[in-house]
Amino acid sequence: MTSNATIHSDLNPLDSMMKRFDEAAKILGLDDSIYNTLKYPAKAVTVHLPIMMDNGKVHVFEGHRVQHSTTLGPSKGGIRYSMDVSIDEVKALAAWMTWKCAVVGIPYGGGKGGIKCDPKSMSKGEVERLTRAYAASMSDVFGPDKDIPAPDMNTGQQEMAWIVDEYSKIKGQYTPAVCTGKPLTMGGSLGRVEATGRGVMVSTRSALAKLGLKPQECTCVVQGFGNVGSISAKLIEMLGIKIIGISDVTGGYYAPEGIKVEDAINYVKANGNLKGFAGKNITNSELLELECDILVPAAMEDQITDQNAGNIKAKLIVEGANGPTSASADAILNEKGIMVVPDILANAGGVTVSYFEWVQNRMGYFWTEERVNRRADRVMKQAFDVVYDASKKHNVAMRIAAYVVAMDKVATTQKFRGVF
Ligand code: GLU
Repeated sequence: MTSNATIHSDLNPLDSMMKRFDEAAKILGLDDSIYNTLKYPAKAVTVHLPIMMDNGKVHVFEGHRVQHSTTLGPSKGGIRYSMDVSIDEVKALAAWMTWKCAVVGIPYGGGKGGIKCDPKSMSKGEVERLTRAYAASMSDVFGPDKDIPAPDMNTGQQEMAWIVDEYSKIKGQYTPAVCTGKPLTMGGSLGRVEATGRGVMVSTRSALAKLGLKPQECTCVVQGFGNVGSISAKLIEMLGIKIIGISDVTGGYYAPEGIKVEDAINYVKANGNLKGFAGKNITNSELLELECDILVPAAMEDQITDQNAGNIKAKLIVEGANGPTSASADAILNEKGIMVVPDILANAGGVTVSYFEWVQNRMGYFWTEERVNRRADRVMKQAFDVVYDASKKHNVAMRIAAYVVAMDKVATTQKFRGVF
């Protein structure tokens, strides 16, 4: 987000993750051996990829893959393409995947990958060569029982298709289960594209019920209009909630009478982004501070910080993005009595359906969309209830409760598995 670029660069997502980790570790009374094991990623691989660009010059890109933990199963997590990618960011995102998978109870550890690049300024051929080079250099890191990538910021079905193709060529056998978020014809799952947004909607519904708020009487603001933001907005609107603000890199669009999300989605399809869309044009920072009941930050890290948390008026924040709230903002939001459904719970619908995709690949039998959605909704609802109960039991915010639930599972398993 252009308007928040300075805020973003001042913060380190790894510090943000570690602050919450430390807090939950204290509540759990985590012993030092487990604490130190979970504090560091199990494996971090950095590669430099020389790519022939369309102008005939070779450009060298830096890429990473971090496996934070493989205690609960193979590491799982997306690959992002962005100029903001750094090893610290990828380490934080990988750890968040460990906690996210543990919170929803799927048998995976956590991983994340990233390439520092600006795919929007590259041709399709350049992105393909970069993706294939990355997949080839990570062919011994990835594997259906080792480490399973998926889409994240600026990657999607096409990149997953290239990864499967490259990996399969190297291994000499077609291996669709090496990643998730694939096109349907390559073993993708029905419902995967919508899964993260759907989980955000289910979390919103559960939270409103706990807060005693009626959807029909609520307004909602969504920051970010990529896969997660746009689909969250659409499904939240279907609950009867009025969407009054949306945004993307071009800025925020505010319409107190309500925005028809379908119109915004069609507008982006036709124009590439929201520039010129109806409503009052505001900045992304103004958007976060709008008068509303529900705020869904679904753009990127560190959007809600100690600089703006005091001005937030929403009663409920549901984190569609990973790490949208800095650790310094947590206390301010708690003080104001705002319920925050944390990222590792709220956006876990995506990885949950990734798990279903992997299961279907291994069975060679595909489910209906109805079955995928029903099972994913059940997982999300149950996880919400477990975290909510833990927050009451330990008298902490939902975020710390989610870490406690997740870290307890990983620590218990770690004890059984042992160390050498
Ligand atoms: N990138 C998504 C996330 O952050 C999905 C990861 C996955 O499906 O493995 O949760």
